[in-house]
Amino acid sequence: MSVGVVRETTAGENRVALVPKVVATLVGKGVPVIVESGAGEAALIPDQLYADAGASVGDAWSADVVVKVDAPTDAEIGKLSSGSSLIGFLAPRNQENQIGALKAAGVQAFAVEAIPRISRAQSMDALSSQGNVSGYKAVILAAEKSTRFFPMLTTAAGTVKPATVLVLGVGVAGLQALATAKRLGARTTGYDVRPEVAEQVKSVGGQWLDLGIDAAGEGGYARELTDDERAKQQQALEDAIKSFDVVITTALVPGRPAPRLVTAAAVEGMKPGSVVVDLAGETGGNCELTEPGENVIKHDVLICSPLNLPAGMPEHASELYAKNILALIELALDDDGNFAPDFSDEVLAAACVTREAPTSDVSGTDVKA
Ligand code: NAD
Repeated sequence: MSVGVVRETTAGENRVALVPKVVATLVGKGVPVIVESGAGEAALIPDQLYADAGASVGDAWSADVVVKVDAPTDAEIGKLSSGSSLIGFLAPRNQENQIGALKAAGVQAFAVEAIPRISRAQSMDALSSQGNVSGYKAVILAAEKSTRFFPMLTTAAGTVKPATVLVLGVGVAGLQALATAKRLGARTTGYDVRPEVAEQVKSVGGQWLDLGIDAAGEGGYARELTDDERAKQQQALEDAIKSFDVVITTALVPGRPAPRLVTAAAVEGMKPGSVVVDLAGETGGNCELTEPGENVIKHDVLICSPLNLPAGMPEHASELYAKNILALIELALDDDGNFAPDFSDEVLAAACVTREAPTSDVSGTDVKA
């Protein structure tokens, strides 16, 4: 059995699925690794470093298990052999055609988004590892674009107050955003519809904004709000947002469009020079004025909607992702070192999206959009 590391072709994607250190671990276990020439180039990892780690540089698409970051294109699916396996961010909820094509090609496909968010699977949780990168980068972006300092500054020319940062949606990315903004010296506040998050916000030095809405859903995720709840939330946030210099939004509901948290009126109420960083652009955005993938100025407020922040930090994002992939491969190896997933294991059963049962029914596990 062999593992293939292929070059990403999505525009702007700089990550690579395995880094040399992880390649060396697999090779040490007796698993041959083939790397497509240039696979690590955008992450500044030359072929030679993979070769030094024990990989061969060649036709990675012919490997038994092909590992990727982004979902494959039709042409890439055509390069996969029947009976092979594929692991990556396959977006099973909104790439149904691709999943169907993989199934028709006889490929056993594992979507990292479908790995259950349970303690045992934490080491494989690529949504979390990449969410951490996004949360961190969102704050760095906001600080770079802000017209104000984040920390309090006491200078001979006077004292500058610390920036106020509000994070809406405190999952993995939101919590990292709060922690990063705090480290930069900002006054931080977090808000979520899952009340249990309040303690986590406080644990990273933030204040908890309580709007009295409990929308905890299944599998640790939030449910979609009712129309009444949404109207109440938008009005309350409109009042709250005025006092913040920076708003970072990360709110998502699995399989649904991003909830609208920041209305146009809320943006209008912000001070000129304020910044909104909306991490939910891929599913429509949390801010009414967001233009996915763009930076726009509305009412003198900058609204940024970066679509793939982890790609902007390819070294560490790839390193963390590679460790997630390694943990998943290790779980699927049998005693002889063959990739032989045991589907009585709930993690492998949920992650495999090309088995007979329809994607959403594979295990009943919630799959994120
Ligand atoms: P996510 O990216 O799906 O969503 C981000 C946040 O948006 C969530 O906290 C969600 O509650 C919030 N949200 C949704 N609708 C909202 C609304 N209308 N208003 C305000 N906030 C809203 O979340 P995630 O980061 O993928 O985390 C999902 C869950 O998985 C969390 O409970 C997290 O703690 C859990 N998790 C568990 C493990 C584990 O190993 N046990 C690991 C990672 C994550």
